[in-house]
Amino acid sequence: MLCGPSSALAQGRATAALPVATDIRVAGDDQQTRLIMDLTANIGVRAFTLADPYRVVVDIPQTVFQLPPHAGESGRGLVKAYRYGLVMAGGSRLVIDVSRPVRIEKAVVLQARGGEPARLVLDLSATDREAFLRHLALDRTALRGSNAGATASRPQDRQGDPRPLVVIDPGHGGPDTGTKVGGGDVMEKNVVLDFSLTLRDQLEKSGRYRVVMTRTDDSFIPLAERVKFARHRQAQLFISVHADALPKSEGDTQGATVYTLSETASDAEAAKLAEAENRSDVIAGIDLTKEPDDVADILFDLAHRETKTFSHAFARLLVGEMKNAVRLHKKPLKSAGFVVLKAPDVPSVLIELGYMTNRQDLRLLTSETWRARAAGTMVQAVDQFFRTRIAGAGASAGRR
Ligand SMILES: [Zn+2]
Repeated sequence: MLCGPSSALAQGRATAALPVATDIRVAGDDQQTRLIMDLTANIGVRAFTLADPYRVVVDIPQTVFQLPPHAGESGRGLVKAYRYGLVMAGGSRLVIDVSRPVRIEKAVVLQARGGEPARLVLDLSATDREAFLRHLALDRTALRGSNAGATASRPQDRQGDPRPLVVIDPGHGGPDTGTKVGGGDVMEKNVVLDFSLTLRDQLEKSGRYRVVMTRTDDSFIPLAERVKFARHRQAQLFISVHADALPKSEGDTQGATVYTLSETASDAEAAKLAEAENRSDVIAGIDLTKEPDDVADILFDLAHRETKTFSHAFARLLVGEMKNAVRLHKKPLKSAGFVVLKAPDVPSVLIELGYMTNRQDLRLLTSETWRARAAGTMVQAVDQFFRTRIAGAGASAGRR
Protein backbone atom coordinates (compact mmCIF):
# COMPACT_ATOMS: atom_id res chain seq x y z
CA MET A 1 0.00 0.00 0.00
CA LEU A 2 1.54 3.27 -1.11
CA CYS A 3 0.93 6.30 1.00
CA GLY A 4 1.29 10.04 0.80
CA PRO A 5 4.11 11.94 2.44
CA SER A 6 2.32 11.97 5.74
CA SER A 7 1.71 8.30 5.75
CA ALA A 8 -0.33 6.01 7.91
CA LEU A 9 2.70 6.03 10.17
CA ALA A 10 1.71 9.43 11.48
CA GLN A 11 -1.92 8.45 11.79
CA GLY A 12 -1.10 5.25 13.59
CA ARG A 13 0.99 7.01 16.21
CA ALA A 14 -0.92 6.85 19.43
CA THR A 15 -2.74 10.14 19.82
CA ALA A 16 -3.04 9.38 23.54
CA ALA A 17 0.59 10.33 24.01
CA LEU A 18 0.25 13.67 22.22
CA PRO A 19 -0.05 17.00 24.04
CA VAL A 20 -3.55 18.46 23.95
CA ALA A 21 -4.39 22.16 23.56
CA THR A 22 -7.46 22.64 25.73
CA ASP A 23 -8.15 26.37 25.57
CA ILE A 24 -6.95 29.51 23.88
CA ARG A 25 -7.51 33.21 24.51
CA VAL A 26 -6.28 36.56 23.29
CA ALA A 27 -6.00 39.72 25.36
CA GLY A 28 -4.64 43.21 24.84
CA ASP A 29 -4.96 46.12 22.44
CA ASP A 30 -3.57 47.29 19.13
CA GLN A 31 -0.17 48.04 20.68
CA GLN A 32 0.40 44.89 22.74
CA THR A 33 -1.41 41.62 22.45
CA ARG A 34 -0.96 38.36 24.31
CA LEU A 35 -2.14 34.97 23.13
CA ILE A 36 -2.31 32.14 25.65
CA MET A 37 -2.96 28.49 24.87
CA ASP A 38 -3.46 25.93 27.65
CA LEU A 39 -1.65 22.63 27.15
CA THR A 40 -1.56 19.26 28.86
CA ALA A 41 2.22 19.03 28.46
CA ASN A 42 5.30 21.17 28.41
CA ILE A 43 6.41 21.44 24.77
CA GLY A 44 8.95 23.27 22.65
CA VAL A 45 7.89 26.29 20.61
CA ARG A 46 9.35 28.26 17.71
CA ALA A 47 7.75 31.45 16.42
CA PHE A 48 8.54 33.66 13.45
CA THR A 49 6.92 36.35 11.33
CA LEU A 50 5.99 36.46 7.65
CA ALA A 51 5.20 39.48 5.47
CA ASP A 52 2.60 40.19 2.78
CA PRO A 53 0.24 39.44 4.37
CA TYR A 54 1.60 39.99 7.89
CA ARG A 55 1.47 36.73 9.82
CA VAL A 56 2.99 35.13 12.89
CA VAL A 57 3.71 31.41 12.67
CA VAL A 58 4.07 29.32 15.81
CA ASP A 59 5.49 25.84 15.28
CA ILE A 60 4.99 23.24 18.01
CA PRO A 61 5.23 19.45 18.19
CA GLN A 62 2.18 17.53 16.96
CA THR A 63 -0.69 18.58 19.19
CA VAL A 64 -4.33 17.57 19.48
CA PHE A 65 -6.45 20.74 19.33
CA GLN A 66 -9.53 20.54 21.51
CA LEU A 67 -10.39 24.21 21.29
CA PRO A 68 -13.78 25.94 21.32
CA PRO A 69 -15.59 25.53 17.95
CA HIS A 70 -15.15 29.09 16.67
CA ALA A 71 -11.67 29.66 18.07
CA GLY A 72 -9.63 31.80 15.73
CA GLU A 73 -12.41 33.13 13.56
CA SER A 74 -11.94 36.53 15.06
CA GLY A 75 -9.26 38.04 17.24
CA ARG A 76 -8.45 41.00 19.38
CA GLY A 77 -5.82 43.73 19.45
CA LEU A 78 -3.12 42.91 16.93
CA VAL A 79 -4.54 39.46 16.28
CA LYS A 80 -7.11 39.48 13.45
CA ALA A 81 -7.72 35.73 13.28
CA TYR A 82 -5.81 32.48 13.59
CA ARG A 83 -5.82 28.90 12.39
CA TYR A 84 -4.19 25.74 13.68
CA GLY A 85 -3.54 22.20 12.57
CA LEU A 86 -1.08 19.55 11.53
CA VAL A 87 1.54 20.67 9.00
CA MET A 88 3.64 17.51 8.88
CA ALA A 89 3.98 14.21 10.67
CA GLY A 90 4.99 15.20 14.19
CA GLY A 91 4.48 18.95 13.77
CA SER A 92 1.54 21.27 14.35
CA ARG A 93 1.25 24.96 13.59
CA LEU A 94 -0.63 28.03 14.64
CA VAL A 95 -0.89 30.69 11.93
CA ILE A 96 -1.92 34.10 13.19
CA ASP A 97 -3.07 36.90 10.87
CA VAL A 98 -2.03 40.20 12.38
CA SER A 99 -3.50 43.60 11.62
CA ARG A 100 -0.14 45.33 11.16
CA PRO A 101 3.62 44.71 11.44
CA VAL A 102 4.41 43.17 14.82
CA ARG A 103 7.41 42.11 16.85
CA ILE A 104 7.44 38.83 18.74
CA GLU A 105 8.39 39.88 22.28
CA LYS A 106 8.03 36.46 23.78
CA ALA A 107 7.16 32.94 22.67
CA VAL A 108 7.50 30.45 25.51
CA VAL A 109 5.76 27.54 27.17
CA LEU A 110 5.37 27.96 30.92
CA GLN A 111 5.38 24.78 32.98
CA ALA A 112 2.26 23.66 34.79
CA ARG A 113 2.25 24.83 38.39
CA GLY A 114 -0.11 25.41 41.27
CA GLY A 115 -3.09 23.86 39.53
CA GLU A 116 -2.50 25.93 36.36
CA PRO A 117 -1.96 23.93 33.17
CA ALA A 118 1.14 24.38 31.01
CA ARG A 119 0.65 27.49 28.89
CA LEU A 120 2.01 28.69 25.59
CA VAL A 121 2.45 32.45 25.87
CA LEU A 122 2.95 34.61 22.80
CA ASP A 123 3.49 38.33 23.30
CA LEU A 124 3.26 40.61 20.29
CA SER A 125 3.87 44.32 20.08
CA ALA A 126 3.17 46.76 17.28
CA THR A 127 6.08 47.92 15.16
CA ASP A 128 6.57 49.61 11.78
CA ARG A 129 7.08 47.91 8.47
CA GLU A 130 10.74 48.80 8.27
CA ALA A 131 11.59 47.26 11.64
CA PHE A 132 9.38 44.29 10.82
CA LEU A 133 11.23 43.60 7.58
CA ARG A 134 14.61 43.98 9.30
CA HIS A 135 13.64 41.29 11.80
CA LEU A 136 12.26 39.16 9.04
CA ALA A 137 15.63 39.18 7.30
CA LEU A 138 17.32 38.04 10.53
CA ASP A 139 14.73 35.35 11.14
CA ARG A 140 15.15 34.08 7.64
CA THR A 141 18.89 33.52 8.00
CA ALA A 142 18.30 31.70 11.26
CA LEU A 143 15.59 29.55 9.77
CA ARG A 144 17.10 28.86 6.39
CA GLY A 145 16.49 25.33 5.34
CA SER A 146 14.50 24.41 8.38
CA ASN A 147 11.32 24.20 6.37
CA ALA A 148 12.88 21.98 3.77
CA GLY A 149 11.86 18.38 3.81
CA ALA A 150 8.69 19.12 5.71
CA THR A 151 6.92 16.95 3.23
CA ALA A 152 9.84 14.96 1.91
CA SER A 153 8.62 13.42 -1.27
CA ARG A 154 10.62 10.35 -2.06
CA PRO A 155 10.08 9.08 -5.55
CA GLN A 156 8.45 5.69 -5.32
CA ASP A 157 10.28 2.97 -7.12
CA ARG A 158 8.24 1.65 -9.96
CA GLN A 159 9.62 -1.81 -9.27
CA GLY A 160 8.88 -2.80 -12.81
CA ASP A 161 5.17 -2.14 -12.41
CA PRO A 162 4.08 -0.97 -15.86
CA ARG A 163 0.66 0.30 -14.79
CA PRO A 164 0.08 4.06 -15.11
CA LEU A 165 0.48 6.09 -11.93
CA VAL A 166 -2.43 8.31 -10.91
CA VAL A 167 -1.91 10.93 -8.20
CA ILE A 168 -4.99 12.05 -6.27
CA ASP A 169 -4.61 15.35 -4.48
CA PRO A 170 -7.16 16.09 -1.75
CA GLY A 171 -7.13 19.89 -1.41
CA HIS A 172 -6.23 21.81 1.76
CA GLY A 173 -5.42 20.11 5.10
CA GLY A 174 -4.10 21.03 8.54
CA PRO A 175 -4.57 24.74 9.33
CA ASP A 176 -5.98 25.30 5.83
CA THR A 177 -9.51 23.97 6.25
CA GLY A 178 -10.84 25.17 2.89
CA THR A 179 -14.48 26.17 2.87
CA LYS A 180 -16.33 25.79 6.16
CA VAL A 181 -20.09 25.50 6.38
CA GLY A 182 -22.66 24.40 8.93
CA GLY A 183 -21.24 26.64 11.64
CA GLY A 184 -17.73 25.30 10.95
CA ASP A 185 -18.69 21.65 11.40
CA VAL A 186 -18.29 20.67 7.76
CA MET A 187 -14.88 21.46 6.31
CA GLU A 188 -13.80 21.14 2.71
CA LYS A 189 -10.52 19.48 3.74
CA ASN A 190 -12.42 16.53 5.23
CA VAL A 191 -15.06 16.30 2.49
CA VAL A 192 -12.42 16.12 -0.24
CA LEU A 193 -10.27 13.64 1.72
CA ASP A 194 -13.23 11.28 2.10
CA PHE A 195 -13.98 11.55 -1.58
CA SER A 196 -10.34 11.04 -2.58
CA LEU A 197 -10.10 7.88 -0.46
CA THR A 198 -13.19 6.48 -2.21
CA LEU A 199 -11.74 7.35 -5.61
CA ARG A 200 -8.40 5.78 -4.70
CA ASP A 201 -10.05 2.56 -3.53
CA GLN A 202 -12.09 2.29 -6.72
CA LEU A 203 -9.10 2.95 -8.98
CA GLU A 204 -7.01 0.43 -7.07
CA LYS A 205 -9.77 -2.15 -7.16
CA SER A 206 -9.76 -1.98 -10.95
CA GLY A 207 -6.23 -3.34 -10.79
CA ARG A 208 -5.27 -1.17 -13.75
CA TYR A 209 -3.47 1.66 -11.96
CA ARG A 210 -0.98 2.50 -9.31
CA VAL A 211 -2.51 5.21 -7.14
CA VAL A 212 -0.90 7.54 -4.60
CA MET A 213 -2.35 10.45 -2.68
CA THR A 214 -0.57 13.68 -1.77
CA ARG A 215 -2.10 13.34 1.69
CA THR A 216 -4.02 10.58 3.44
CA ASP A 217 -4.56 12.42 6.71
CA ASP A 218 -5.17 15.94 7.94
CA SER A 219 -1.65 17.21 7.12
CA PHE A 220 -1.05 20.41 5.23
CA ILE A 221 0.97 20.07 1.99
CA PRO A 222 2.19 23.27 0.26
CA LEU A 223 0.91 23.70 -3.31
CA ALA A 224 4.37 23.45 -4.87
CA GLU A 225 5.01 20.22 -2.96
CA ARG A 226 1.87 18.70 -4.42
CA VAL A 227 3.13 19.47 -7.91
CA LYS A 228 6.61 18.12 -7.08
CA PHE A 229 5.07 15.01 -5.57
CA ALA A 230 3.47 14.09 -8.89
CA ARG A 231 6.48 15.08 -11.00
CA HIS A 232 9.03 13.14 -8.93
CA ARG A 233 6.97 10.03 -9.28
CA GLN A 234 6.48 10.61 -13.01
CA ALA A 235 2.74 10.41 -12.59
CA GLN A 236 0.68 10.06 -15.75
CA LEU A 237 -2.32 11.83 -14.30
CA PHE A 238 -2.92 14.29 -11.47
CA ILE A 239 -6.39 14.90 -10.06
CA SER A 240 -6.83 17.63 -7.46
CA VAL A 241 -10.10 17.33 -5.54
CA HIS A 242 -11.93 20.35 -4.08
CA ALA A 243 -15.44 21.46 -3.14
CA ASP A 244 -16.53 24.97 -3.99
CA ALA A 245 -18.12 27.83 -2.13
CA LEU A 246 -19.75 31.05 -3.18
CA PRO A 247 -20.87 33.97 -1.08
CA LYS A 248 -24.66 34.08 -0.65
CA SER A 249 -24.85 37.25 -2.70
CA GLU A 250 -23.75 35.38 -5.82
CA GLY A 251 -26.74 33.10 -6.03
CA ASP A 252 -27.31 29.46 -5.29
CA THR A 253 -25.02 27.91 -7.89
CA GLN A 254 -24.61 24.17 -7.87
CA GLY A 255 -22.93 21.22 -9.57
CA ALA A 256 -19.45 19.93 -10.33
CA THR A 257 -16.89 21.81 -12.41
CA VAL A 258 -13.67 20.54 -13.97
CA TYR A 259 -10.77 22.99 -14.27
CA THR A 260 -7.62 22.95 -16.33
CA LEU A 261 -4.70 25.37 -16.22
CA SER A 262 -4.70 28.55 -18.25
CA GLU A 263 -2.93 31.87 -17.98
CA THR A 264 -6.16 33.77 -18.36
CA ALA A 265 -9.23 32.52 -16.55
CA SER A 266 -12.21 31.38 -18.59
CA ASP A 267 -14.49 33.70 -16.59
CA ALA A 268 -14.59 35.87 -13.49
CA GLU A 269 -15.82 33.09 -11.24
CA ALA A 270 -12.96 30.80 -12.31
CA ALA A 271 -10.45 33.59 -11.65
CA LYS A 272 -11.86 34.20 -8.20
CA LEU A 273 -11.84 30.51 -7.40
CA ALA A 274 -8.22 30.03 -8.49
CA GLU A 275 -7.26 33.01 -6.37
CA ALA A 276 -8.99 31.47 -3.35
CA GLU A 277 -7.43 28.03 -3.87
CA ASN A 278 -3.99 29.55 -4.45
CA ARG A 279 -4.20 31.23 -1.04
CA SER A 280 -3.68 27.84 0.59
CA ASP A 281 0.01 28.48 1.31
CA VAL A 282 -0.70 31.89 2.84
CA ILE A 283 -3.32 30.35 5.09
CA ALA A 284 -0.94 27.68 6.33
CA GLY A 285 1.92 30.09 7.01
CA ILE A 286 4.21 29.33 4.09
CA ASP A 287 6.79 31.98 3.19
CA LEU A 288 5.95 32.72 -0.42
CA THR A 289 9.12 34.72 -1.00
CA LYS A 290 11.06 31.47 -0.64
CA GLU A 291 8.98 29.56 -3.17
CA PRO A 292 10.78 29.37 -6.49
CA ASP A 293 8.57 30.44 -9.36
CA ASP A 294 9.66 28.28 -12.22
CA VAL A 295 6.30 28.47 -13.85
CA ALA A 296 6.70 31.45 -16.17
CA ASP A 297 9.19 29.69 -18.44
CA ILE A 298 7.39 26.44 -18.28
CA LEU A 299 4.14 27.68 -19.74
CA PHE A 300 5.61 27.91 -23.21
CA ASP A 301 7.54 24.73 -23.00
CA LEU A 302 6.80 22.17 -25.67
CA ALA A 303 6.32 19.37 -23.18
CA HIS A 304 3.80 21.56 -21.51
CA ARG A 305 1.86 22.04 -24.71
CA GLU A 306 1.45 18.29 -25.01
CA THR A 307 0.54 17.99 -21.34
CA LYS A 308 -2.04 20.70 -21.84
CA THR A 309 -3.66 18.74 -24.67
CA PHE A 310 -3.86 15.67 -22.46
CA SER A 311 -5.21 17.67 -19.53
CA HIS A 312 -8.00 19.07 -21.71
CA ALA A 313 -8.76 15.65 -23.13
CA PHE A 314 -9.10 14.20 -19.65
CA ALA A 315 -11.23 17.12 -18.46
CA ARG A 316 -13.61 16.55 -21.38
CA LEU A 317 -13.78 12.82 -20.65
CA LEU A 318 -14.52 13.56 -17.00
CA VAL A 319 -17.38 15.88 -17.85
CA GLY A 320 -18.69 13.39 -20.43
CA GLU A 321 -18.74 10.52 -17.95
CA MET A 322 -19.85 12.43 -14.89
CA LYS A 323 -22.85 14.04 -16.56
CA ASN A 324 -24.53 10.62 -16.63
CA ALA A 325 -24.64 10.31 -12.87
CA VAL A 326 -23.73 13.61 -11.26
CA ARG A 327 -25.14 17.10 -11.42
CA LEU A 328 -22.73 19.37 -13.25
CA HIS A 329 -22.34 23.13 -13.17
CA LYS A 330 -24.15 24.81 -16.07
CA LYS A 331 -20.73 25.49 -17.59
CA PRO A 332 -18.73 22.50 -16.36
CA LEU A 333 -15.42 23.01 -18.20
CA LYS A 334 -13.36 25.97 -17.10
CA SER A 335 -9.78 27.09 -16.78
CA ALA A 336 -7.72 29.41 -14.58
CA GLY A 337 -4.26 29.85 -13.08
CA PHE A 338 -4.28 27.20 -10.37
CA VAL A 339 -0.78 26.75 -8.91
CA VAL A 340 -1.45 23.08 -8.21
CA LEU A 341 -2.02 22.38 -11.93
CA LYS A 342 1.34 23.72 -13.07
CA ALA A 343 3.33 20.51 -13.57
CA PRO A 344 4.71 20.84 -17.11
CA ASP A 345 4.87 17.10 -17.65
CA VAL A 346 1.89 15.66 -15.79
CA PRO A 347 -1.63 16.02 -17.25
CA SER A 348 -3.53 17.71 -14.43
CA VAL A 349 -7.10 18.68 -13.64
CA LEU A 350 -8.78 20.17 -10.62
CA ILE A 351 -12.32 19.10 -9.90
CA GLU A 352 -14.71 21.07 -7.77
CA LEU A 353 -17.15 18.35 -6.75
CA GLY A 354 -19.96 20.74 -5.96
CA TYR A 355 -20.84 23.81 -3.97
CA MET A 356 -20.67 23.35 -0.22
CA THR A 357 -22.70 26.54 0.02
CA ASN A 358 -25.59 24.87 -1.80
CA ARG A 359 -27.68 22.77 0.54
CA GLN A 360 -28.49 20.09 -2.00
CA ASP A 361 -24.88 19.80 -3.16
CA LEU A 362 -23.69 19.57 0.42
CA ARG A 363 -26.07 16.73 1.15
CA LEU A 364 -24.68 14.81 -1.84
CA LEU A 365 -21.06 15.65 -1.08
CA THR A 366 -21.35 14.15 2.38
CA SER A 367 -23.25 11.06 1.23
CA GLU A 368 -21.39 7.80 0.82
CA THR A 369 -23.70 6.67 -1.97
CA TRP A 370 -23.08 9.81 -3.98
CA ARG A 371 -19.34 9.56 -3.42
CA ALA A 372 -19.27 5.98 -4.69
CA ARG A 373 -21.33 6.89 -7.75
CA ALA A 374 -19.34 10.01 -8.61
CA ALA A 375 -16.02 8.21 -8.12
CA GLY A 376 -17.31 5.41 -10.34
CA THR A 377 -17.85 7.82 -13.24
CA MET A 378 -14.38 9.26 -12.69
CA VAL A 379 -12.85 5.78 -12.91
CA GLN A 380 -14.58 5.36 -16.27
CA ALA A 381 -13.08 8.63 -17.47
CA VAL A 382 -9.62 7.50 -16.29
CA ASP A 383 -10.11 4.21 -18.16
CA GLN A 384 -10.98 6.02 -21.37
CA PHE A 385 -8.12 8.46 -20.94
CA PHE A 386 -5.49 5.75 -20.70
CA ARG A 387 -7.08 3.64 -23.41
CA THR A 388 -6.79 6.47 -25.91
CA ARG A 389 -3.47 7.64 -24.55
CA ILE A 390 -1.88 4.23 -24.88
CA ALA A 391 -3.34 3.87 -28.38
CA GLY A 392 -1.92 7.29 -29.26
CA ALA A 393 1.50 6.44 -27.85
CA GLY A 394 1.59 3.35 -30.04
CA ALA A 395 1.12 5.51 -33.14
CA SER A 396 4.14 7.65 -32.29
CA ALA A 397 6.31 4.82 -31.03
CA GLY A 398 9.85 5.50 -29.96
CA ARG A 399 9.11 8.83 -28.36
CA ARG A 400 9.27 7.40 -24.87
ZN1 LIG B 1 -10.55 24.08 -2.25
